[in-house]
Amino acid sequence: MAAPGLRLGAERLFAMPGVLELLSRSNSTSQAFAEVLRLPKQQLRKLLYPLQEVERFLAPDRRQDLHLRIFDPSPEDIARADNVFTATKGNRIDYVSSAVRIDHAPDLPRPEVCFIGRSNVGKSSLIKALFSLAPEVEVRVSKKPGHTKKMNFFKVGKHFTVVDMPGYGYRAPEDFVDMVETYLKERRNLKRTFLLVDSVVGIQKTDNIAIEMCEEFALPYVIVLTKIDKSSKGHLLKQVLQIQKFVNTKTQGCFPQLFPVSSVTFSGIHLLRSFIASVTGNLD
Ligand code: GDP
Repeated sequence: MAAPGLRLGAERLFAMPGVLELLSRSNSTSQAFAEVLRLPKQQLRKLLYPLQEVERFLAPDRRQDLHLRIFDPSPEDIARADNVFTATKGNRIDYVSSAVRIDHAPDLPRPEVCFIGRSNVGKSSLIKALFSLAPEVEVRVSKKPGHTKKMNFFKVGKHFTVVDMPGYGYRAPEDFVDMVETYLKERRNLKRTFLLVDSVVGIQKTDNIAIEMCEEFALPYVIVLTKIDKSSKGHLLKQVLQIQKFVNTKTQGCFPQLFPVSSVTFSGIHLLRSFIASVTGNLD
């Protein structure tokens, strides 16, 4: 266990000298995460809390609508979530099976989260990044759009299941809507849907199909902004503000906080792991 009193959110953490070093030496922190904690502050903030990094470049009167700290885990919780995502003998992380129809989906009793988004949005790359602590898990990353045409199920120990849904939009399978709609409507253990939006281009027309489904079935869902390493600071700010406005004014079931990520720099990946661990009851 980490020393008592170290459950800090991002800001308090950065304000307190020596805490990072203490946490990095704690027994509950993996070696890999201990190295992360030793990064220079600026780099660490960008890696762990990318939305707060974006906030720094916003005029103060624009900050109020950005729901930055609804989910603000301590580095200790982030370290715990990393442990959940780390494959060990006692925590097997495996691909389970694929299905084209819900009645072919494996019967897994654990809480489930699913990832949906347009083809080429970076879904396979993101799932691969989330599973980087389980290098034996094979997640196919395509160069061609429309590669993932089935629902792919991965189990994370005894904790939860991750489902990679087929991409929609260009070259989507014909029965995409039926497949995904039925899954979203009927999967009883589905705890959260992660809707991926490419931060370079923002919400596209085809994303409305997925958004409407989540809204219609009153599913709790979350918008994840992918490929944030590809945009300039200004472009990213603009996209974040636009998407945030959309979430604030046009959605009911969408989690107010956005999750920006890069599968190349790993920015936001630790935070997303923590959120998944949290919504599946693994950080209680
Ligand atoms: P999918 O069709 O949604 O599964 O998308 P992929 O994961 O196959 O990614 C589509 C393309 O975007 C590939 O060429 C990836 O290398 C690229 N890509 C995915 N994520 C990122 C990212 O975070 N940063 C950058 N720069 N490229 C990315």
